[in-house]
Parts: sequence; structure tokens; C-alpha cells
Amino acid sequence: MTGDGVTVADIRAARARIAPPVRHSPLLAAPSLSAVTGGQVYLKLETTQDTRAFKLRGAMNKLLSLSEDERRRGVVTASSGNHGRGIAYAARELGLRAVICVGSLVPRNKIDNMRALGAEVRVIGDSQDEAFVEVERLVAEEGMVPAHPFDDPQVIAGQGTIGLELLDDRPDLDTVIVPLSGGGLIGGIALALKANRPDVRVIGVSMERGAAMIESLRAGRPVAVAELPTLADALGGGIGLDNRWTFDLVRDLVDATLTVTEEQIARAMAHLFRAEQQVVEGAGAVGVAALLEGLVPEPGGTTAVVLSGANVDMDDFMAIVTGSAG
Ligand SMILES: *Cc1c(COP(=O)(O)O)cnc(C)c1O
Repeated sequence: MTGDGVTVADIRAARARIAPPVRHSPLLAAPSLSAVTGGQVYLKLETTQDTRAFKLRGAMNKLLSLSEDERRRGVVTASSGNHGRGIAYAARELGLRAVICVGSLVPRNKIDNMRALGAEVRVIGDSQDEAFVEVERLVAEEGMVPAHPFDDPQVIAGQGTIGLELLDDRPDLDTVIVPLSGGGLIGGIALALKANRPDVRVIGVSMERGAAMIESLRAGRPVAVAELPTLADALGGGIGLDNRWTFDLVRDLVDATLTVTEEQIARAMAHLFRAEQQVVEGAGAVGVAALLEGLVPEPGGTTAVVLSGANVDMDDFMAIVTGSAG
């Protein structure tokens, strides 16, 4: 790691460090979406990681980078669910203590998954921002080591390994579409891609309800947004008013950002299931929603869409894809 933040060398080092358990995920041709865009669309299946979300990449890289002393102190984090599951998995692999602080909007299935991996989960307040207060307390009072869900160079480097895999699998990529919340995922991917192919277009997609990074880009600085219930629960939460890394990365490297509505997310989940046989959670489907709704400018050419996670309660999922959700 350099003083200036994450480099592509850090991302290459992360790639060597985290496999296994992190796997080079499949890049699957999606004929039903190619038919919509007139180009070639591929799906990057981060739904196939052991924790059913890409966040295992950053979590493994972070915990494998800790010193012996830090490992003894244990790690604490706030999470909308998938980072917590990644940290819980990584902590179990390495035999260290993990405490995950979550807000009340985090779905039950995600909390159960973290507990099943042996992590201690604390439900604190109504938002991720409130959960962060408890993280700070545990760092200050118990000496635990914070493992931020996105604003951490090791986490960003871990997520960036997706960009290296995309370049290996499709060196001719024109566009990469990535779900956007705190920006660790898209920041890492954009770094990896643009270091090799500066001309690749990187597009971030958030849900309309609480698009914290997009609001911050508009304001020219990190701003707070209200955290609202959304099908894309994994994209909830702010970017941190004291954001150090991801705001600059996204501002400097991401070519365009878009938002999608709740209805558009539900339609994309149903489409991925019916036409492409993929179970994807709301946050993981926002890129496909943008393509299906014709929101991506110049959609032709070769496009990869990151399906970032599959952690949805299956009863909720069935209701959404059959159109019976309330
Ligand atoms: C965390 C998460 C994202 C967003 O990642 P950021 O690094 O916060 O932008 C997207 N999809 C899923 C499924 C996630 O869990």
C-alpha cells in the first residue's frame, strides 16, 4: 500500500492472497440481455462465492493483512449484511473474534448467516450510521480492529480483483456496469480496469431510494442521506462524512452513474431468474435493471454486468419474481 492509496500492484497482491477461498467467478453470456442491447452482455457471477457475495474478497484481503497483534484483538465492523458475512467467514478461517454491528433494516436471513459463521452480531439503531458509532466504541474501549465495509485500502484492493478477472476473461470489454453504494466495489474494479485499459467505460448504478454516493458526487463532497427500506438493502447507508478513499476514487474513475426504481429492481430480479436462471438479490440486480430499462447510453459493444450478491430471503424472492410482493 502506498501513501497515495490503492495501486494495481496492491490489487494483484490481493488476488494472490485471497484465493482460496475466493474463486475466480464465472463470466456468463446472457443472450436475453444481448438481445436488448444489440451487443454482447456477460454476467459476472459474484453470487457464486462461498458467502454468495463479492464482499468475501475485501474481507479476506483485510484480515489476511493484519498483524499478529491485530489478529489477537479481533475485528469489528458495521455492515448492511454481506460485508459482515464476509468478515465472519474470514474471521472463522483465521480463527479470530469478529463483532458485526448492523442497523435494523438488515434482513433477518443476513443476520442468521453471520451468526451461523460464529460472529457476534449486534443490532444497533435504525441505520448503518448508528451501527458505526458502536464500532467506534469497541475500537476505543476494547481495542478491537475496525474493518470498514468499503473505505479501507485493503478492502478496495480485494474488491478490485474482480477487475483483473474481467480483463483476463474478456480483454475486449467496452463497458462494465457495477452496483454502487459506498464505492469500494466500483472503485477497486475501476482502478484495476483503467490501469490496463483506460478506455473501458465504468458505470455505477444505485437505487433511487438513498443513493448516498451519487448525492455526494452532486454536492462535490460526502453528504448524509436518509436510509430507507429498499429491495437493494445491501446498497443502503451513507459513504461516511469523513470518507477518505472511495469518494475520490469514484469521482475520478467512474464514467457515469445512474439510479433505478424499486419496480425496476424487482423486474430485473424476475428477468434474471426467468430468462437467465440466476437468483440475485436486489442490490445485485441494479445493473441489469439499468440495461433492461434502456437507461445505459450507447449500450452496444461488449458489456459485463456485476451480479454482486444472492443473499435474499427466498420467500421474499419468490414473492418478488412472481409479482406477488406487496
Ligand atoms: C456491498 C454491496 C454492494 C456495494 O458495494 P460498495 O463497495 O459499498 O459500493 C453491491 N452489491 C452487494 C450485493 C453488496 O453487498
